[in-house]
Amino acid sequence: MIIDSHMHINRIVLDNPQKYINAINNNTNIESVINVGLDINTSNESISIASSNPKFFSSIGIHPLYIADQQLDSLYNLASHPKVVAIGEIGLDSTKNNLTEQKKYLISQIMIANELHLPVIIHSNNCNKIIIDIFEKYVKPKYGCVFHCFQPDLETLKYLVDNGFYISFAGRITYKTAKKSLEVASIVPSNLFLIETDSPYISPEPLRGEINETSNIKYIIQRLAEVRQCSTTEIEQITNANTKRLFKKMK
Ligand SMILES: [Zn+2]
Repeated sequence: MIIDSHMHINRIVLDNPQKYINAINNNTNIESVINVGLDINTSNESISIASSNPKFFSSIGIHPLYIADQQLDSLYNLASHPKVVAIGEIGLDSTKNNLTEQKKYLISQIMIANELHLPVIIHSNNCNKIIIDIFEKYVKPKYGCVFHCFQPDLETLKYLVDNGFYISFAGRITYKTAKKSLEVASIVPSNLFLIETDSPYISPEPLRGEINETSNIKYIIQRLAEVRQCSTTEIEQITNANTKRLFKKMK
């Protein structure tokens, strides 16, 4: 059974979230999904969807592109909900030039996760090295960490593997230009990778440009099975176990 470890159902991007929720509830290949918040509003929405839909779990946090005027205090109260399995997505994004502010939010949120014994979901857009620097100089996730939609670089991969941190593969590995991602996919240890759609963003081939949804995770599984020369069932089983090991509240 498949777990989509990172996806978004929220009003920012979808007109009819219920349609996408129903599609997941009715899909017998999907065991569960982690619906990831981007700010306090979408984190709240994610918790309320998880409360009424057994397949849905929630990750809450403030994404680096949405940090303006966000109340970190409210994360504490929300995180005690039984279906909140992680803090995220949090991280750094080089497309905005407020990295100093972004770093403050990242550090504070890792501290919250450590205090609450939760893993973190990291968003890194061309910031792998700066984030590792923060881990080493300021605060390191104590209860697990995944770099979602991993931007491949072998030095970062080595650091993550050495620390028992995870990487997650999304639609990028289905693209023709994904040579480096495929290299990473072929060498990452079996116990340290997850799969995700990051839907409604980054649709895999052959659906690029369309609204992405969880059922498209099959293309990602297919590609990983080709690269790692194993069966798709094996990819499903490995990533299912890895996801539950990292996100302990899913068990
Ligand atoms: Zn995301």
